[in-house]
Amino acid sequence: MKRGLYRAEAVVLNSLDYSESDRILTFYTLEHGKIRGIAKGARRSKKRFVGNLDPTSHINLIFFHSEKSELMRVEEAHLIDGFNNLKVDIDKLSQACYLIELVSEMTREGQAAPQVLHLLVNFLKMLDDGGEDCLLRFFEIRLLAILGYLPHLSGCVTCRQPLSADSKAYFSSEKGGAVCKKCSFGAGSVIPISLGTAGFLSMAAKFDTAKLGRLKPNAVFLEESERILYDFIKHQIGKELKTKKFLDKMRNASL
Ligand SMILES: [Zn+2]
Repeated sequence: MKRGLYRAEAVVLNSLDYSESDRILTFYTLEHGKIRGIAKGARRSKKRFVGNLDPTSHINLIFFHSEKSELMRVEEAHLIDGFNNLKVDIDKLSQACYLIELVSEMTREGQAAPQVLHLLVNFLKMLDDGGEDCLLRFFEIRLLAILGYLPHLSGCVTCRQPLSADSKAYFSSEKGGAVCKKCSFGAGSVIPISLGTAGFLSMAAKFDTAKLGRLKPNAVFLEESERILYDFIKHQIGKELKTKKFLDKMRNASL
């Protein structure tokens, strides 16, 4: 990126207080992928940025990039959608925070994937409109697909034999897909996967999100998918997600 003033459509991924008056921010933008910037005076002057720099906000951003600093300087942030329903519902808000942490951890600065921004905005909107928990599974598999990490599910990733209903199948994050019983030895720690879940995930990777509201996925497939996808994501990023721990804690508390 050359030195100059830029405009971008973005979602705020993260916001950290910095010094007495500034904030350090991470954005996912349509045009430049993930970028980090500093908003001078954002803590002191509430008027300048209002609530537009809160995590999950969908904004039009104007920023200055100088080649000397890896941080952009945030000049203006205009709200497109603040997803205000999320902010008054702790369940939905924590799900939204999971989506943005996932994008933040799975993407690298300097690589633009416009589909990631479209996906994120689309799913934040669905959560804001009261979407179901199963949205998270669709988001995970779609994000993996866009970023080129889609696990192999149409057969055994090692011997390429089709998975059979008569014999158990497993999922290996290390191998990047389903493995048959024979190949599961030596495939690291594995998780049992049913043929139905393998099929559900393959379908979810391609599903038209406009029709998501009408879908009622099987509870067993969803449960298996959650374990498998999170294990796979953890393997990719090499750590746990803070928001996932929080989501699990909230779920256990409500049981
Ligand atoms: Zn095999």
